[in-house]
Amino acid sequence: MTSKADDRYARQILSPHLGESGQAKLATASIAVAGCGAVGGHAAMLCVRAGIGRVRLIDHDRVEWSNLHRQILYTEADAQTTALKAETAAHRLTEINTETELEPIVTKITPETVDDLLSGVDLVLDGLDTMAARYVVNDACRRAERPWVYAGVDGATISVAAFGPAGPCLRCLWPELPHSGESGMTRPAVINTAPAAAAAQQVTEALRLLTGCEPRRLMFRGDLWNGTMNRIEITQDPECTVCGGG
Ligand SMILES: [Zn+2]
Repeated sequence: MTSKADDRYARQILSPHLGESGQAKLATASIAVAGCGAVGGHAAMLCVRAGIGRVRLIDHDRVEWSNLHRQILYTEADAQTTALKAETAAHRLTEINTETELEPIVTKITPETVDDLLSGVDLVLDGLDTMAARYVVNDACRRAERPWVYAGVDGATISVAAFGPAGPCLRCLWPELPHSGESGMTRPAVINTAPAAAAAQQVTEALRLLTGCEPRRLMFRGDLWNGTMNRIEITQDPECTVCGGG
């Protein structure tokens, strides 16, 4: 590790949760961010600043004015030119950390494309805006025995859960598409602090997994406006159609 790198990550290495060995693991880790909007943009930035070695940025969408209040990587100029999110995110993130290898991919995640899009990474971060797409990622990650971290935002509430290569999956928690707030309404309400908080917990879970911790089998559900955070236990469903025998 160079002295510049030592200095860059000095405060993070001081944390007993990471230390020199944890930082070295992050440097060789590769992740995919599925969706580079509000949660995905914050999450990608935190991963790049944390020193994760390779970050794949997957998004088919373009920047719009209605994105700017919550999508931290984009500017008015990007909205003016309807810039592609994946490419713009890669450009911004390179300015933050030239040591991270960034791989923008402009495409939509579908059941047909998902296995290729997520291949070769150690972990996937959910920056998606529909539950249907999250189920596609959940199923693909389970097939590939790859961990992923769910993050949902609805108004001022956040939900975050890490799923490992074994143990419960998203469908154990929600076998069918759940309530409307996270089910893919086209323009749901969002307080702009919620995606930042969701991404902070999501990337914390990712840092834990990438440095050797086990998934917690918990969903964190917080209401920023009311100032509450709950831990919901997730148990594996033996009848789950993806990870059980259902
Ligand atoms: Zn399951």
